[in-house]
Amino acid sequence: QRNIAVMTSGGDAPGMNANVRAVIRTAIFRGSRAFAIYEGYTGLVRGGPEYIREMHWHDVRGWLAEGGTNIGTARCKEFRERAGRLQACFNLISAGIDALVVCGGDGSLTGADLFRAEWPSLVEELASSGKISADQATQYATLNICGTVGSIDNDMASTDATIGAYSSLARICQAIDYIDATANSHQRAFVVEVMGRHCGWLALMAGIATNADYIFIPEKPASKKDWEDHMCGIVGKHRKRGKRKTIVIVAEGAISNDLKPITCKDVLKVLVDRLGLDTRITTLGHVQRGGTAVAYDRILATRQGVAAVDAVLAGNADTPSPMIAVAENKIVSRPLVDAVRLTKQVAEAIENRDFAKAISLRDAEFNE
Ligand code: ATP
Repeated sequence: QRNIAVMTSGGDAPGMNANVRAVIRTAIFRGSRAFAIYEGYTGLVRGGPEYIREMHWHDVRGWLAEGGTNIGTARCKEFRERAGRLQACFNLISAGIDALVVCGGDGSLTGADLFRAEWPSLVEELASSGKISADQATQYATLNICGTVGSIDNDMASTDATIGAYSSLARICQAIDYIDATANSHQRAFVVEVMGRHCGWLALMAGIATNADYIFIPEKPASKKDWEDHMCGIVGKHRKRGKRKTIVIVAEGAISNDLKPITCKDVLKVLVDRLGLDTRITTLGHVQRGGTAVAYDRILATRQGVAAVDAVLAGNADTPSPMIAVAENKIVSRPLVDAVRLTKQVAEAIENRDFAKAISLRDAEFNE
């Protein structure tokens, strides 16, 4: 029996509530006690009953479909420093917690793995300064940690999908379907900005799913002249064939090959100046994060919550923390550090415009 805590961290994503619910109920079902850390790492650093609360079966009733995260999330500077993590260690031990499931993006999971690796030295420091007893130091010598990936961006390596990405995609498609009707009526062009930070997954998938005319993603930068000519050629051809509307999707991280951002305003100007189209910009913004989780995210988050509890119950705190992933529709456990490292390597390769390297990194992972 363990005392298992769950927390959400980084940007909120639909399905995080389903993940928290699954962790809490599986922990109770397996005979452990369940806790929630409120407000991400901020709650861990502040500690006390306001932030670390025991959870019961009925506390998460109705959470399966709800968007966002009911236990709150935050970005916490203090946890990036050792002093913050020392306080977090003290707070967990004071609350009697010996296992932690973190649902968040690559930053949150990097922090989680660092915390696990440092844990023995943090405990030692607390014991030698008399903040915890020798008995507590022995009892809490290790901390089992497990990560689940919650992010609308789908930007984490080693997993096919992150919790929240398909809900966000569904919301984007719904919004573009609405825009389609008005665009068609007035023969207008719409430039739609979608989220995703440095990852083009949401923009690319939304483009395919809504039959967009053109898509800008960070993974495929082009010189200003090239993208202008290419886009105008394609949009112009579609118009000549009788299409009454134009949809161009711009990922928020889209860049040209001199690494300058490609903005919706840049695209609008080209569509107006070169093609004479009546063009509007729609920035979908936080609508993309809101609303209920789609069925896929509810199921993914639930399956991963169950797997995360089983991983911490079986876990050996000496090995790198596991990250629960989905690969070819199977729930699998991967070393968290590897996933974080690969995510950073791919991002760096894209930043350095070394696309061959980025693709080979992803392929190597896929073929493993
Ligand atoms: P999203 O993909 O939605 O942005 P994320 O988890 O990547 O989510 P971050 O802001 O990068 O979001 O990280 C969330 C929190 O995790 C940070 O505010 C910080 O408290 C902690 N964290 C991130 N990186 C580290 C690190 N290297 N060391 C310790 N803690 C970290």
